[in-house]
Amino acid sequence: PISISDPIEEHRICVCVRKRPLNRQELLKKECDVVTVPSKCVLMVHEPKQKVDLTKYLETQTFRFDFSFDETSSNEMVYRFTARPLVETIFEGGKATCFAYGQTGSGKTHTMGGDFSGRAQNASKGIYAFASRDVFLLLNQPRYRNQNLDVYVTFFEIYNGKVFDLLNKKAKLRVLEDGKQQVQVVGLQERPVGCAEDVIKMIAVGSACRTSGQTFANASSSRSHACFQIILRRRGQMIGKFSLVDLAGNERGADTSSADRQTRMEGAEINKSLLALKECIRALGQNKSHTPFRESKLTQVLRDSFIGANSRTCMIAMISPGMSSCEYTLNTLRYADRVK
Ligand code: ADP
Ligand code: MG
Repeated sequence: PISISDPIEEHRICVCVRKRPLNRQELLKKECDVVTVPSKCVLMVHEPKQKVDLTKYLETQTFRFDFSFDETSSNEMVYRFTARPLVETIFEGGKATCFAYGQTGSGKTHTMGGDFSGRAQNASKGIYAFASRDVFLLLNQPRYRNQNLDVYVTFFEIYNGKVFDLLNKKAKLRVLEDGKQQVQVVGLQERPVGCAEDVIKMIAVGSACRTSGQTFANASSSRSHACFQIILRRRGQMIGKFSLVDLAGNERGADTSSADRQTRMEGAEINKSLLALKECIRALGQNKSHTPFRESKLTQVLRDSFIGANSRTCMIAMISPGMSSCEYTLNTLRYADRVK
């Protein structure tokens, strides 16, 4: 397991991996676990070389990330090494983002705390809630207490290139870019919150809204990006913003050859947005002057988070441990490896 001390080194971009445990169905099917996490920053995947007699012909691929979390790590532990170091950024006039990336079922929503049922109970156990708790802890410290800072939250979904407000009955919103390249989501509800409990209620409302009218099997949540934001303002003027994004399942980007036109279009859109995201984070990490944020709605909406001297990002790549997910797991790891 990982030692409990907080990370000292500060990075502009942090890329981590989290492996979830085998679930009950996988255990029943005697699915074999092909991922090992030997130390806090190394991860090994045992890829089958041949499809027959899988366990006999394994080739090991090794990946290195800033941190890797094995199946025994808690949401709180993951939070501590990923989003926690970014909270201060928004008090210092910066933009922070944290992305949960990975295949459907790999644990993105579980980690972020936007669980399907939308119950406050689930909402209080993920990164959304931990980050909100720490924003209020900092806000009440002598350093910031008398600075007239107000906290707001937004929660929206980007589905097939369109933005829907999860705190306002999934109202469809327009995205406008003015002459100064400022991007605005018109009419997006910013709810004032006075304490961490207020935020948890909003997370529960938004999570329930996200999944309303869906059956689990056909959950459009695997085809949409959900973005939860904590915004700090002083007399209306924005000081900082923390965006926490539960991305669409990356396997959906492969739906581009589906027989169904709608599915094909959605797949192409997801593909485009995940590629654009990778390029925007890379541009941020390399201090490039050009950021290709216009390539997708996701990156356009998050534009101000990819520029500026005080922007920091963290990506958590979620992976399933099973042999049957091996191909997707490798795709996820390769993507995450390219981000930095
Ligand atoms: P995703 O959002 O990536 O599609 P979910 O977060 O919905 O995946 O996770 C799929 C299932 O696996 C859920 O039932 C979730 O509770 C469970 N799960 C995910 N990660 C973990 C974990 N680290 N520990 C225990 N259960 C997990
Ligand atoms: Mg999910």
